[in-house]
Amino acid sequence: MTLKTEQDWKDIVHRCFRCGYCKFTYDYSDFNCPSYKKFRFETYSTGGRLWLIYGLISGELSWSQNVANVIYACSTCGNCMENCRFEKFNDFLVDIIEAARAEAVIKGFCPEKQKALIERIENPEMSNPYGEQNSDNEDLKKLYDLPDKAEWVYFIGCTSNYRQKNLRDATLKFLKKAKIDFTLVDEHCCCSPVIRTGQINSVKNFINHNITQINNAGASKVITSCAGCYRTLKKDWLKYGADYDFQIYHTVDLIKKLLDDGKLKFTSDYNKTVTYHDPCHLGRHMGIYEIPREIYKQIPGLKLVEMKRNRENAWCCGAGGGVKIGYPEWSVEISKERLEEAKMTGASVISSVCPFCRTNLSDANSKFNMDFEVIDLIEILDIIEFEISNN
Ligand code: SF4
Ligand code: SF4
Repeated sequence: MTLKTEQDWKDIVHRCFRCGYCKFTYDYSDFNCPSYKKFRFETYSTGGRLWLIYGLISGELSWSQNVANVIYACSTCGNCMENCRFEKFNDFLVDIIEAARAEAVIKGFCPEKQKALIERIENPEMSNPYGEQNSDNEDLKKLYDLPDKAEWVYFIGCTSNYRQKNLRDATLKFLKKAKIDFTLVDEHCCCSPVIRTGQINSVKNFINHNITQINNAGASKVITSCAGCYRTLKKDWLKYGADYDFQIYHTVDLIKKLLDDGKLKFTSDYNKTVTYHDPCHLGRHMGIYEIPREIYKQIPGLKLVEMKRNRENAWCCGAGGGVKIGYPEWSVEISKERLEEAKMTGASVISSVCPFCRTNLSDANSKFNMDFEVIDLIEILDIIEFEISNN
């Protein structure tokens, strides 16, 4: 079953037992829903939120800004989907929350801060959620001597292109060193921030623009270092009816393939203890847990240690679902908790494979003087040396 129509999610929302399992880790030793942990009020758990949504659908409750604010106080981390015992139904928990947000937008109750996302993205001078002048990436193409047409397109994503340029540049350098035939396009926002916050009116236009750009580049493969873009291109674009023939990869897919084929060999050490933070959009949303870990483990000198809540149970960085812009203080509190958990591993480095996680973990690291090195896996590969062979 898929939630294709508005009626679909309205028809299943009542199936929640309100048992409350979705709030905790598998062993009940800790909370796993950042929203419930913060607000400690049933309505801020998934079960409570679904009951609230049911009340709105049935007409027993009326929309108000306070009601909408509860629906927006969720990072869409997907932890509830893992911990809800109601199989099949649990696949749709975040979809239901996002669908309710779309209703909030229609009713005029999208919170003001989240509205800034759509205003910036729909501004043709920007086309990104950061309010920056749109980059058509022609300067980068010249700098890295990239062709107009290529087998691969590196879809940079707005966070890497406008806020985490070191991560972007590390990806560009890796692809060049790996002798990948790739190029860049005049990409516009993948639409993750507006899909997550229910502001979906122009999503199809943005998808069409990006698909046209990729097709014009003649690419059969698209690669990104952003977990959010990866999920959106591979899952959400299809949900919005996109029709494309190219394959979507996260950078970790390519690195792992090169390692497996014996074409990539690390030749210098990274003598640090590292803990890996699973991005929600790569882990729970796309089921990729082991590939990044297998790469870290092959880097000479690197000691990989696990946080208590890892893989399906990983605690969210707190940035997603419009929480970073809507609730900035709470957002870094969520990241602080992740860093405290990382501290218990003895690691000096916390690493991930997502620019948005990197941003929020770095913000919490600075704000709370947590003394970590926060670095993306692709940035580690930019520091160490490696050899590429085409044999
Ligand atoms: S979402 Fe699932 S785990 Fe949570 S209260 Fe409803 S049925 Fe129970
Ligand atoms: S997606 Fe995450 S924050 Fe939202 S209700 Fe589920 S567990 Fe809580």
